Amino acid sequence: MIVMKFGGTSVEDAKAIDRTASIVKGRAGNKPVVVVSAMAKVTDTLLKMAQAAGAGDRESALGLSRGLRERHYNTAGELLGTGVFTRFHGELEGEFDALDELLRGIAAVGELTPRTTDHVAAYGELLSSRIVAEAFSARGLAATLVDSRECVVTDATHMRAVPIFDETNERLALKISPLLDAGRIPVMGGFIGATRNGVTTTIGRGGSDFSAAIVGAGNAEAIEIWTDVDGMLTTDPNLCPDAHRIRVISFDEAAELAYFGAKVLHPATVLPAVQKNIPVFVLNSRNPSCEGTKITARAPHCRNIFKAIAAKKRITIVNVAAPRMLLAHGFLRSIFEAFDRHKVAVDVVSTSEVSVSLTVDSNEAIPALAADLAKLADVKYEGRKAIVCLVGENLRETPGIAARVFGELSDLKIRMISQGASEINLTFVVEEEDVPGVIRRLHSTFFSELDPEVFA
Ligand code: ADP
Ligand code: ASP
Ligand code: MG
Repeated sequence: MIVMKFGGTSVEDAKAIDRTASIVKGRAGNKPVVVVSAMAKVTDTLLKMAQAAGAGDRESALGLSRGLRERHYNTAGELLGTGVFTRFHGELEGEFDALDELLRGIAAVGELTPRTTDHVAAYGELLSSRIVAEAFSARGLAATLVDSRECVVTDATHMRAVPIFDETNERLALKISPLLDAGRIPVMGGFIGATRNGVTTTIGRGGSDFSAAIVGAGNAEAIEIWTDVDGMLTTDPNLCPDAHRIRVISFDEAAELAYFGAKVLHPATVLPAVQKNIPVFVLNSRNPSCEGTKITARAPHCRNIFKAIAAKKRITIVNVAAPRMLLAHGFLRSIFEAFDRHKVAVDVVSTSEVSVSLTVDSNEAIPALAADLAKLADVKYEGRKAIVCLVGENLRETPGIAARVFGELSDLKIRMISQGASEINLTFVVEEEDVPGVIRRLHSTFFSELDPEVFA
């Protein structure tokens, strides 16, 4: 079997879903399992309405829900013939009525918990998977809707639940394998799962890629991530329009890029696949004949030093200075324990004799974390920073690279520099507003000539 995951833009409207159906038709012989995201922007809107309801603003929440209702009705109407649509309309209506009831409940209580947030957020994928399965059937594909909450088992860390692989694989084998054996095409929503007790969870923003990998980790021959660009590109095309397609990239390189901001692929996607040596392809649903990017266990030889540059904004630097203790035995441990207690992940670390600097994604936990750390040492934090990360296997062997990179940026203030432990990334921190300039300058320096075997 293969897993085909379609992101939000690949199911954003009737036209997109129609294209998706044709793409799946072309793979019908390969036993595809289809994983879909919510229609583009729907998750954002759902989270917004949940928050409005949580703040007691019932009318705003219901207003946003009405907008979504209309969009889903219209899309389904365009995709389905009148007869089918009349029946299906009733199903959608039931879903939206339930959502509205939930919103009224949240607004009445005036409190939004992570658990309730997941209930609201899950509607995006529940609805899109229903519409896609129905549209596939109407186009002659033997699609069967599968509720991901019956397959993907997670812990109860709502909004970023962690899948429990053993149980998930058992359930997938029970639910999905018989469908494939019967020649059916299972269609399921990404991003969502449920606890053992059946409480709805979500696995983190952008998590549908991860869902694809979870479903594929069992025994897929390939995982295809269908999106709105030609594959993984040398940098974010929004920052640098002349970014090039990368034909082949190693798992390690792709993981570094994903982790440091290339949102085309969710970082966790790569791990279950790499462990099983399953190739992952990133493909363009608007340009399906393009070969996309193949992610493989080992990188092919490449004449360019770097494969790509990524940037991750909204970073905060936390500086922890310990003037008297110096970096005594156990000091780092106590710092990291504080991060652990607040469930804050650290990206880049640099240390000196008297201080430690760490970068974290800016989030609400920082003030509480800083208060906790202040018991150990002097703490300062600085927001509005960005991590820039250059990735390439050749970094390992090529001398003088840092000089070239920082020479190019000699007029800028560079904070925290790290040449990753993986030896394939060079990472540093800059002011957030410098990111577009930094990316463009580095891109034109390192990608003006391209190895045709690796880049298109
Ligand atoms: P989907 O909805 O299909 O999951 P995403 O929006 O999550 O799509 O990811 C695709 C987007 O990622 C692209 O449209 C592009 O703007 C952005 N992106 C950022 N960095 C890169 C990169 N290095 N290569 C390709 N796309 C990138
Ligand atoms: N719909 C979810 C999100 O927007 C998951 C995904 O699209 O990958 O975060
Ligand atoms: Mg995505």
